[in-house]
Amino acid sequence: MLNNKSPDFLIIGAGIVGLTIAFELKKRFPDQKIMIIEKESRPGVHASGRNSGVLHAGFYYTADSLKAKLCRDGNFAWREYCLENDLTLNQCGKLVVARNEEELNGLDELERRARINNVNLEMLSAAEATEIEPHAFTYERALWSPTTATVNPKQVVESITKKLIDAGVAILTDTAYIENSENNVITSKGNFSPGYLINAGGLYADKIARDFAFSKNYKILPFKGLYLYANDSGLKLKTNVYPVPDLRNPFLGVHFTVTAENKTKIGPTAIPAFWRENYTGWEKFNLEELVDIVGIDAGLFLSNNFGFRNLAFQEMQKYSKKKLVQLAGTLVKNINPGDFKKWGHPGLRAQLINTKTKQLEMDFKFEGDTKSFHVLNAVSPAFTCSLPFSRLIVDEIMKIKNK
Ligand SMILES: Cc1cc2nc3c(=O)[nH]c(=O)nc-3n(C[C@H](O)[C@H](O)[C@H](O)COP(=O)(O)OP(=O)(O)OC[C@H]3O[C@@H](n4cnc5c(N)ncnc54)[C@H](O)[C@@H]3O)c2cc1C
Repeated sequence: MLNNKSPDFLIIGAGIVGLTIAFELKKRFPDQKIMIIEKESRPGVHASGRNSGVLHAGFYYTADSLKAKLCRDGNFAWREYCLENDLTLNQCGKLVVARNEEELNGLDELERRARINNVNLEMLSAAEATEIEPHAFTYERALWSPTTATVNPKQVVESITKKLIDAGVAILTDTAYIENSENNVITSKGNFSPGYLINAGGLYADKIARDFAFSKNYKILPFKGLYLYANDSGLKLKTNVYPVPDLRNPFLGVHFTVTAENKTKIGPTAIPAFWRENYTGWEKFNLEELVDIVGIDAGLFLSNNFGFRNLAFQEMQKYSKKKLVQLAGTLVKNINPGDFKKWGHPGLRAQLINTKTKQLEMDFKFEGDTKSFHVLNAVSPAFTCSLPFSRLIVDEIMKIKNK
């Protein structure tokens, strides 16, 4: 008989990835003891409660990536979930606009990716795009994604947390994983000996994984996402408006999001952060992390891999409200800088870098063995992907667990 110190599955991290893994495990193994430990006082305090809340459609990613299929399926699954559970869902779609001749090639590439991935995406003329969103500005053509939608990520996290608790999953908050010692998991609230351990630790996933001899060639590099909100009487867009992204890096460029509650915001940025939970000021300052991260950033700056120098220069300027509005102003007509005064809560992207190749990992990454499994690169759009991604993770665990 298992006691509460020896769950069948112990999950580190109550973000959307840890929560949906628990959801999937409970569905498959209703009689097994599943426990989540979370260092914060409630689930979803980090990326899962601080993101744009966009259910992406799945047209940014190449067909050989996990992101492509999981995003398409996750978009559908979360829209269904929100409708079934009466959660706020804004099915407002998305326009991807071009700013010049060169960006038309980018639109064509996204359309090609959508077609291969079976995602509904329409090429529109500039006039047709303006019918959908009168404020949008585009050069000749634009792409229309009818399935992109927005949710309230905190509401989604709360809903799934409640379902887990009702199903008997133990969620221990204020409980931090500290170290692994001979299959004994040491936490701030005592030791556990799980049948199997799953690491969904977000910004700390790589560090936790190294305790289990994984993540040897990877480190998490944090990037800060800032948001700037329109005043209530200011700009109100009907749909999300995005630029053509630089497909060499995993970020989508500054854009306009229409939230689940119909507010318009600019962002998020992807500003290199200096420590993992470097949200504002000196909060959660960590010298060891600072030295490590600045070292990696300096190397990337010199090598200029994936255009990092330009990315860093451009992103650092976005700490200025004026600059951020000016950049976003290339996507819509007649933006009034006075409408955008209020910063939202920033989020931090836990982006994995391969320390050997010095490239950012573009797709989800995980590693594991018979005792533990580590989700290493649950970057955007992992919120959208989380339901089918967790199904895939549990399939993977079942393949390796009993080897
Ligand atoms: C600014 C921003 C905008 C984004 N926009 C979108 C979007 O529009 N659509 C989309 O699909 N995705 C988006 N994403 C991505 C999405 O939010 C993430 O991919 C997703 O939330 C990752 O979930 P997670 O569970 O892996 O991480 P997290 O939510 O960070 O959860 C990890 C958890 O692990 C806990 N933890 C860490 N260390 C320990 C420890 N030692 N002991 C115990 N617990 C620990 C943390 O406290 C945290 O709660 C965005 C991300 C950001 C930052």
